[in-house]
Amino acid sequence: MGNAQNTVTMEKIVSLAKRRGFIFSSSEIYGGLSSAWDYGPLGSELKNRLQRYWWREMTQLHDNIVGMDAAIMMHPRVWEASGHVAGFSDKMVEDTVTNERYRWDHLTNEQQETRTSPNGNPLSEPRDFNLLFKTHLGPTADSGSTVYLRPETAQGSYVNFRNVVQTSRMKLPFGIAQVGKAFRNEIVTKNFIFRTCEFEQMEMQYFVKPGEDEKWFEHWKEKRMEYYRKLGIRPDHLRFHEHGPDELAHYAKTAFDIEYYYPFGWQELEGIHNRTDFDLSRHAEYSGKDLSYLEEETKERFVPYIVETAVGLTRTVLVVLCDAYEEEEVAEGDVRTVLRLHPQIAPVTVGVFPLVKKDGLAELARQIELDLRNEFATFYDQGGAIGRRYRRQDEIGTPYGVTIDYETKENGTVTVRFRDTMEQVRVPVEELANRIRSEIRNYKRVGA
Ligand code: ATP
Repeated sequence: MGNAQNTVTMEKIVSLAKRRGFIFSSSEIYGGLSSAWDYGPLGSELKNRLQRYWWREMTQLHDNIVGMDAAIMMHPRVWEASGHVAGFSDKMVEDTVTNERYRWDHLTNEQQETRTSPNGNPLSEPRDFNLLFKTHLGPTADSGSTVYLRPETAQGSYVNFRNVVQTSRMKLPFGIAQVGKAFRNEIVTKNFIFRTCEFEQMEMQYFVKPGEDEKWFEHWKEKRMEYYRKLGIRPDHLRFHEHGPDELAHYAKTAFDIEYYYPFGWQELEGIHNRTDFDLSRHAEYSGKDLSYLEEETKERFVPYIVETAVGLTRTVLVVLCDAYEEEEVAEGDVRTVLRLHPQIAPVTVGVFPLVKKDGLAELARQIELDLRNEFATFYDQGGAIGRRYRRQDEIGTPYGVTIDYETKENGTVTVRFRDTMEQVRVPVEELANRIRSEIRNYKRVGA
C-alpha cells in the first residue's frame, strides 16, 4: 500500500462537498446567502446517520436517558430566566478602515492590547452584541409578541424537567437528550459549516444529586471522548481544553471542551459543562413553579445539578469529513481520494456493480442489490470501467463494494471489495448480508 498523505485543506473539503452533493451554499442560484448551507443528497444522509449514531449512543444504550423534541420557539420568559436576554452576547470590534467585524475573544493578546486589527488598522471600542434572533409571534410587532429563536436546545429540557419526571417516572441520576436546530446571530461566520447562524445541536442534560456532580462530570467527559474514538476519529486530532476562570459561562462551575484539530487549527467540537443548579433554580424563580426533586430513599428534597454534553451536529459533519479525507498514492502517479467514514455513518454502505452489463450480469446484480436494500443503504452502478466505479465510491466513503461477474453465474459467489484496504474477497451470495453485517460491527479504522 502507498503512503497516506495528510493533505486535507478546507478548499479540498468544500470542493468535494459541492462536487459530490454533500453540501451546497444556500440559495445558490441567487448568489448564495452568507454562511448558510444546504445539505444535498449525500450530506443529508451523512447528517441523519450521525444524528442516529449519537441518539443510539446517548439514549438507547442507557436505561436512564430519555429523548425529547421541544419547540424552537419558547415562552420569552425562558430566555430571561436562562440569562440569554441580558447576557448572551459577544464583544465585537470593528476595523476602523475596512469596517470588518471581529469577535474580541478571537483576537490575539497583542491585537487586544494594541487595539489593532489583523489587517494592522486601528480597532473601534469593544461593544456587546447580543446573539439572540428576535422575531414576533402573530400579526402585531409589539413587545408583547416578541419571541426568540432558541440559541440552544438545553432550555427545552430544563422547562420540561417536571413533565419528564412525572410521566417517565425517572429517578436521579437521569438524562434528557435532544437534537434540533439552534440559531445564533454570530458576529463572524466562517470556515464553511464550522460556525453558522443556523445549525443543529445534539445535547444531553444529566440531572444529578448535588455533591455527585463532579463524579458525573468526570464520567461524561471520559465517555464523550471515548465516543469520538469509537466513531473512528483519529485520537491525535482530539484533545481536552479546560475553561479558565475568564472563559467560564455564567452558569458553569467547570467546563471542558473536546477540541478537534481542523485544517484551520485546534477549535471546539463539543462542550461538557457542570451547570450546577443554576438552570432549574432560575426557572423555578421565574415561573413560580417548584422544580425541586424528592429523593424517595432519603426523603431529601433538593434542586438537581445538571451536567451537560453539548455538540453541534453540523459541526460534527465537518469533523468527520475532515478526519476521513485522505489522498492515497495507490501506484506511482495514481492518487485516489478516499473518505474513511465509519460504516455506520457513511451515506452509502454497499455499492453493487455488475462487471459488465451483458450476459445477464446486470439483472443478477440488480437482484442482489434489491435484496441488500432491505437492510443496507445501497447504490447500484453499471456504468464505466469497474476501477472508476470503485473510485467514485471511495470518494464518498462507501465502505463495501460488491461485484458480480461471470464466476457469480457459475458458482454463486461475488467479490467484496473493502474501501480502506482495497482488498477483495469472494463470498457466497447467501452469506453476503451476514458478512457485511459483521464487517460493520467489527469495523476498525486503519491506523486508528
Ligand atoms: P463559541 O464560544 O465558539 O461561540 P460556545 O462555546 O458558546 O461557542 P456552546 O454554547 O457550548 O458553544 O455550544 C455547544 C456546541 O454547539 C458547540 O460545541 C458547537 O459544536 C455547537 N455550536 C455552537 N455555536 C455554533 C455555531 N454558530 N455553528 C455551528 N455549531 C455551533
